[in-house]
Amino acid sequence: MVLRELPSVDRLVRAADPLGEYPHAVAVRHARRLLEEVRGEVRRGGPVPDPEALAARLRARLEELFRPHLVGAINATGVVLHTNLGRAPLSARALARLQAVAAGYSNLEFDLEAGRRGHRTVHVRRLLTELTGAEDALVVNNNAAAVTLALRALCAGRRVLVSRGEAVEIGGRFRIPEVLAQSGAHLVEVGTTNRTYADDYRAAADEETAAILRVHRSNFRLEGFVHSPSRSELRRVADEHGLLFLEDLGSGSLLETTSLGLPPEPTVQEALAGGADLVFFSGDKLLGGPQAGLIVGRRDLVEALRRHPLTRALRVDKLTLAALEGTLLSYLEGKALEEIPIWRMLSTPPEALRRRARRWLRWVRKVGGKGEVRPCASAVGGGALPGADLPSFALVLLHPRPEGVAWRLRLQSPPVVARLEGEALWFDPRTVLPEQEKAFRAALEGAIRATFLEEADG
Ligand SMILES: *Cc1c(COP(=O)(O)O)cnc(C)c1O
Repeated sequence: MVLRELPSVDRLVRAADPLGEYPHAVAVRHARRLLEEVRGEVRRGGPVPDPEALAARLRARLEELFRPHLVGAINATGVVLHTNLGRAPLSARALARLQAVAAGYSNLEFDLEAGRRGHRTVHVRRLLTELTGAEDALVVNNNAAAVTLALRALCAGRRVLVSRGEAVEIGGRFRIPEVLAQSGAHLVEVGTTNRTYADDYRAAADEETAAILRVHRSNFRLEGFVHSPSRSELRRVADEHGLLFLEDLGSGSLLETTSLGLPPEPTVQEALAGGADLVFFSGDKLLGGPQAGLIVGRRDLVEALRRHPLTRALRVDKLTLAALEGTLLSYLEGKALEEIPIWRMLSTPPEALRRRARRWLRWVRKVGGKGEVRPCASAVGGGALPGADLPSFALVLLHPRPEGVAWRLRLQSPPVVARLEGEALWFDPRTVLPEQEKAFRAALEGAIRATFLEEADG
């Protein structure tokens, strides 16, 4: 019976982990599981692995189990708000607040002055109202939660008017019709896909209607024969029919993007000044902070949301609040452009990017690789400024098998994610943080050398 040739659990553990680096109980559990699998393989006619190979398999499993899986990465794609790569990197100030609050106890829900229970909602409220001009503010887990909460608390069982051109899917399964259905509100689409007028809202408003919901189209753009009513027109319709005017800004911005030479992205301030009762936006898009959903607007409405039972389930933790406070303080001090990584990236002039791409090219050539510097376009991402291209320069690595290099780069530590396009691998310096320059160089050189070795091997 060949199964006898398999080592015992103990022998296997000793062979895989001779120095006892891994917790014994964990190693034993995985050794049992592995032996079980191998017995199955052998019964189905597979070969009996030699003890060394078996030990190596167990070792690899233990290594993988204990290696952090969520790791920092280098984003060389040029997409600033890359949802798959974690959206906005935090500022040094946000990280400092995080560190100061997360490592110990805090006044999260403790009123220091009165010496009794306080509220976690107060910490960033003053900053959000100060910066946006809103009467009140509330923070929840993300923007999807913010919109869902508001619709549930203020519109459940009643009708909500949405322009047909705004009943969109944002990505990540956030679809306006489904969000409305989840919240218990009834979606009433008004107008047509390309043209909607204030009168379309007027005609649809009735006794059962609770609100007008205006939605930022995010990652797509309507061009040509199009019309949407202005905020002041929607405000007028809302007043005529006693409706709420809610606006999902998506990314939202506290800064004027036009001052950076970018197309306009609606600011939170202008949405409120334009007449929206409540405005919803994300913490980790153009705000440049942690994942969060920010709700700003009328005091009575925010208060109603604060008291709603669902709010407890959507609340943010101290880590989010600390990072958010640090982020917002940069805006209040007028230092957002310098301090917040995404604004630094968005405002880097193309000439500086070209210089970095050229430096990268020299590294590539030094290790025997081929490439060139070419003009390219970075993207904002995160549903902000759809279609807006930021002129940039990329290092383009020319290699017969660019997918192979891309794969090796993803396996580096930290991993590097670049853009495969037109048979070449593109690296846009805009989204590679200056602090990551050394690690990037090591990864790039490592991946190029490894692919050469592979070619030499045949
Ligand atoms: C991104 C986006 C959302 C979802 O925001 P999250 O913070 O990712 O939950 C909702 N609405 C719009 C218009 C968006 O662009």
